[in-house]
Amino acid sequence: MKTSADIIIIGGGPSGSSTATHLSKMGYDVLVLEKAHFPREHVGESMLPFTYDLFEELGVLEDMKARFTRKPGVTFSNADASQESHWCFNRVIDGPQALSFHARRAQFDDLLLRNSEQNGATVIEGAAVTDMHFEDQGVKVIAEVDHGEPQTFTARFLVDASGQNAFIARKMGMQKPFKRLNVRQALSAHWVNVKLDDSLANGNIKIVHLGGEKLGWIWMIPIKDSLSIGVALNMSYAKQERKRLMAEHGRKGWEKALYLQEIQSSAAVMNVLQGAEMIDEVASNGDFSYYSEKKFDDQYAIVGDAGGFLDPIFSSGIYLGMMGAKLAAKGIDDLLQGRGKDRLEAAYQDISGGYQVVEELICTFYEPNSIAFSDITVDTNFSFRKFETAYSILHLILAGDFFTNHERYLKAIATLKSADMIEKFKSLTGHAEEAKMHEVCLMPA
Ligand SMILES: Cc1cc2nc3c(=O)[nH]c(=O)nc-3n(C[C@H](O)[C@H](O)[C@H](O)COP(=O)(O)OP(=O)(O)OC[C@H]3O[C@@H](n4cnc5c(N)ncnc54)[C@H](O)[C@@H]3O)c2cc1C
Repeated sequence: MKTSADIIIIGGGPSGSSTATHLSKMGYDVLVLEKAHFPREHVGESMLPFTYDLFEELGVLEDMKARFTRKPGVTFSNADASQESHWCFNRVIDGPQALSFHARRAQFDDLLLRNSEQNGATVIEGAAVTDMHFEDQGVKVIAEVDHGEPQTFTARFLVDASGQNAFIARKMGMQKPFKRLNVRQALSAHWVNVKLDDSLANGNIKIVHLGGEKLGWIWMIPIKDSLSIGVALNMSYAKQERKRLMAEHGRKGWEKALYLQEIQSSAAVMNVLQGAEMIDEVASNGDFSYYSEKKFDDQYAIVGDAGGFLDPIFSSGIYLGMMGAKLAAKGIDDLLQGRGKDRLEAAYQDISGGYQVVEELICTFYEPNSIAFSDITVDTNFSFRKFETAYSILHLILAGDFFTNHERYLKAIATLKSADMIEKFKSLTGHAEEAKMHEVCLMPA
């Protein structure tokens, strides 16, 4: 078994496998230590259009097109399905990138990991990293392969892509909560024999806003063979309901009971569920909304969820992880070639700018006095016309354009919260197309 490399990567999810491919293509000897045996299931199935170019660079675009569902946009709905708005990416993006993807993560993550091997990386599956030591001569990583005796692996540099395990941040006490974001619990499952409405049948993800004490949302993602339905709830509400439902359904049954209770209380979901059948167990995921205070140093870099996790309303996680991986790989290359840390620093400035934009957008979604994403039509008293150009910007942010333009977008989101400032930003962009928010996004012929 290979025990030394230039770079060791902990975790073979989208962030780890992307980092592995980029660094292998640059000529580095890369070793990925992945705890699970792939293919393994994972929550998070809807992607942003800005991942399209990344797939092309990694060399998996044609496989993506052949294997997964295409996604033309996002539909926001309120719980009783009386208001809907459709955000179609082709209104702000020209070219094939406007059509994104939804995928079952077992197959998607496996595709990316196998691709990293084809590009030269070595992957050891079943290898759970338990410890690490930074020494003058390099990095020592301890891992147990298939629950065997601890083994030592050595490298010049360590990349942590361990997802919500956040290996380095936890080990070094660097994990902090995003103070403005609430902790949430997500419950999800897959359904068949559903009655898709036009927006879902055309491939849109549908996000249903849940207000009040639930302070959450429901997702519906049309995947090739099924409809993924999940609900994210404010943790305080979920805990209160758990108490009540445990008495009735026991320790094992309360999560399913809560899941069904919440999705069945929304007309937007019930419209598609008539006669439908749930085909798997309810998966439960805590959404911790955290970040690592420090994300790189001379001997390590943290990418993807391992460095920070945000409420997944806007389907941003995979793109944040994969784009972060690309930027970090360039910085790591400079560092290992003796060209200094400037590029790594610049990479993490862009990465943290991207996270800031998404965090700001999430706060906007939950703020009752801010915009209601489902209620954006020309005739509403929310004054669509006044906000027209800012909405164009929002459209682009929803598509994933939040790294290089983060400063401009942060200002634009502030604009959406403050009517006084709107005039200032009116000239940024503007699309007559925005008036079509009530029209379903269509899949190109
Ligand atoms: C409820 C919910 C819904 C979401 N929906 C979306 C969505 O629609 N779209 C979207 O883009 N994102 C979504 N996300 C976020 C998305 O799933 C993540 O951002 C994405 O998986 C991050 O990829 P990653 O590679 O950083 O981490 P992961 O995909 O979690 O991969 C980490 C890997 O590291 C391995 N690992 C962990 N610890 C160790 C260890 N000690 N040793 C070795 N290996 C280890 C794990 O086995 C895993 O394979 C959602 C998240 C949640 C919780």
